[in-house]
Amino acid sequence: MKNFKLPELPYADNALEPVISSRTIAFHYSKHHQTYVNNLNNLIEGTEFENKSLEEIVLESDGGVFNNAAQVWNHTFYWESLKAPQNDNKPTGAIAKAIEENFGSFDQFKEAFSKAAATLFGSGWAWLTVKDNKLEIIQESNAGNPLKKGLTPLLTIDVWEHAYYLDYQNRRPDHINDFWSIVNWEKVEQRFLKA
Ligand code: MN
Repeated sequence: MKNFKLPELPYADNALEPVISSRTIAFHYSKHHQTYVNNLNNLIEGTEFENKSLEEIVLESDGGVFNNAAQVWNHTFYWESLKAPQNDNKPTGAIAKAIEENFGSFDQFKEAFSKAAATLFGSGWAWLTVKDNKLEIIQESNAGNPLKKGLTPLLTIDVWEHAYYLDYQNRRPDHINDFWSIVNWEKVEQRFLKA
C-alpha cells in the first residue's frame, strides 16, 4: 500500500520568524501535520483508498478519512504558500492583474481576505480560489477544502488556534495582519497560471 509521508518544509524552521516562530513550526508542522499523515495512513490501510492519490482521497472520502487527508493536503499547500518575511510584500504579474480585476485593488482584496480569516468561527481556513478566471474568497471550517466545490485553491491561511497561539495567543487579527509579509506571491502566481 501507499504510505504518505510528511513533505519537507521548503525553508528552514526559523525562516518565517517572527510571524511563525520555529517553536510554532515544531508543533504545527512536526506534530500536528505529522499526526494527520499518521492518522491517514492508519485509516486507509485495507480500504478502497489505500492506493489512491491524496487528491483523490480528498475528493472521494468523507468523515475521518476526509478530515485527515484534507488536513494533510491543506497543510502542505499552506507551507508552500509561505516564505521569509518581506517588507511591502505584494503580488506582481498575472496574479496582481487578476486580483485588481476581481477585487478592485490589492488593498481591497487584502481587506476582504483578512475579514474572511478573522471572522471564521472556530477552526478552519480562509482561501483564495479561482474557477474560469474568476477569483473568490471562501471560508472553510475544520478540514474543509475548496477542491470539493470544484474550485482551484491559490492561497490559504490556517486560522486554527494551533497555527498562531504560541506567537499571538488570542490575537488572530494581528497574526492575519502580519501574514501578508510572508505570502509567497510567486507561488500563488504559478498556481494561477496553471489553473
Ligand atoms: Mn494547522
